[in-house]
Amino acid sequence: MPSAAVRALPGIGAMLLAGIGMATAGNAGSRPTPAITFPDVAPAVMSRQVVEGIVRTLSSDSFEGRAAGTAGGEKTTAYLVQRFIDAGLQPGNSGAWLQKVPMVEITGQEHGPLIVSAHGHPLRFDFGTDWVGVTSRPVKRIDLKASELVFVGFGINAPEKGWNDYAGMDMRGKTALILANDPDHDAKSGKGPFGGRAMSYYGRWTYKFEEAARQGAAAAIIIHDASPGSNDWNEIEGGWTGPQTYLDAAHNDSEPMLMSGWVQKSVAEQIATAAGKDMPSLGTAAQQRGFRAVALGITISTGFDNTVRRMMSHNVIGVLPGKARAHEYVLYTAHWDHLGRCPADETGDDICNGAIDNATGTAGLVALAAANTAAGPAARSQVFIAFTGEEEGLLGSEFYATHPIFPLEQTAGGLNIDTMLMTGTARDMIVVGKGKSNLDAYLAKALRGARRRPSPDPAPEDGHYYRSDHFSFARRGVPMLYIESGQNLVNGGRKAGRTAARDYETRHYHQPSDEYDPNWDWAGVMEDLQILYQTGRMLAQSKAWPNWHAEDEFRPVRDESCAASPDGC
Ligand SMILES: [Zn+2]
Repeated sequence: MPSAAVRALPGIGAMLLAGIGMATAGNAGSRPTPAITFPDVAPAVMSRQVVEGIVRTLSSDSFEGRAAGTAGGEKTTAYLVQRFIDAGLQPGNSGAWLQKVPMVEITGQEHGPLIVSAHGHPLRFDFGTDWVGVTSRPVKRIDLKASELVFVGFGINAPEKGWNDYAGMDMRGKTALILANDPDHDAKSGKGPFGGRAMSYYGRWTYKFEEAARQGAAAAIIIHDASPGSNDWNEIEGGWTGPQTYLDAAHNDSEPMLMSGWVQKSVAEQIATAAGKDMPSLGTAAQQRGFRAVALGITISTGFDNTVRRMMSHNVIGVLPGKARAHEYVLYTAHWDHLGRCPADETGDDICNGAIDNATGTAGLVALAAANTAAGPAARSQVFIAFTGEEEGLLGSEFYATHPIFPLEQTAGGLNIDTMLMTGTARDMIVVGKGKSNLDAYLAKALRGARRRPSPDPAPEDGHYYRSDHFSFARRGVPMLYIESGQNLVNGGRKAGRTAARDYETRHYHQPSDEYDPNWDWAGVMEDLQILYQTGRMLAQSKAWPNWHAEDEFRPVRDESCAASPDGC
């Protein structure tokens, strides 16, 4: 998965095509949820040696960390085509295995200061230490000139919640200054209009930039949340400088903003003071329903140069056609890409091999494909996609979801694998986004059969459901499951599970040390793959169309697309 706040933003233009911010209030096309049947599924035969061999190969140095748009990336897609052939799949893109994903890498340099003009007294803030900003427009030069600054609170427009921070404000040509997180993020419980302590999509920085663009803003700047548990400014600075990769804007429908960026909290405080306001009061006002955006009577200006490099990467797509309802689809997804070359560690190793993230999920995807072809076609078609560009901001899945080969309203649902931990067998399985859709019921049956239980996400405040490829589908209505390895371990219980997960997070995640280890314990991963096999196969044999629960953020989008389709959900 990508880091919390430190990778490039997804191609914003493409996201304008659909997205929860555009979901209308009410369920105009709502249909009653049909009863679900859970076909019995025989256990799959899956070879640990095969899965391990794929992880060892993909994470070897010769694949150079599998970055999209590099030779290592090309080598990865060629290797995966062969694995899909071996697994007995058919090519999924009208006779081809690959789907082209056009990308553009934009590297900003020579940044001027951020100049804030208040009543003729300019304040100047330095790039890097005070603020960062990038553009997804593939142009040589960006100039933001005397753009009016508007404090828009949390920058949320959620008609289904009766909340609009932009109400009555015309943002064209202006710059939005936006608070991080969502209005009830400080809550102790999971209760509140935006899920309390749990991060809703409205709290994610990706959403805030998308919404500002929808509002027609010239630029948007998020105020860094310096509270404990958040990313350090150093991580923001590191992630938002240097090369940034986007979907090629030539393939998007609308123009991205001039700039998306962040400021230090102290900078926002100085800006507020210059405007005759104070940040704490603005922040408190923004937490109240009915908050109205505040024109600060200030303009901001800056400029920077860009180098632009276009590149092509690929999703790898295979299909096992269904024998009864081949025009209905079940999705299995995992991202093949990782970070490529990265800052060297103390041993001089500068390849981020991504063995766990996500060679494991990619190998699991191949194993699920092979197990399904061995069992023979299911009633529904089963589609297996290895995505590119996930680490750059879900680019491959975003491109597929906006250029779907199999119609989304004919896609019954799916599951995404991103990062399988080698922590051993567990009594549970973590379901990120547990309680969102009735896909949970399929998974629950598979877990019962293995005498395991579903556990909720232990860190809902981190918004993991919005941070891997399943989200590109969920936001367009397709019910998607996203699971993580259990943390209630057979050996050592919850304490050992939490320790092991934290160990990966702090010592290996997105570092050169995320490498293959011949001493890994594969038992838990193989058990998890068996659960995923059972869950997917049940859905592929079923006639039911799972849906999001009635109050879920993605329900209106699904109901709308279902109502518009004669063949689908
Ligand atoms: Zn990942």
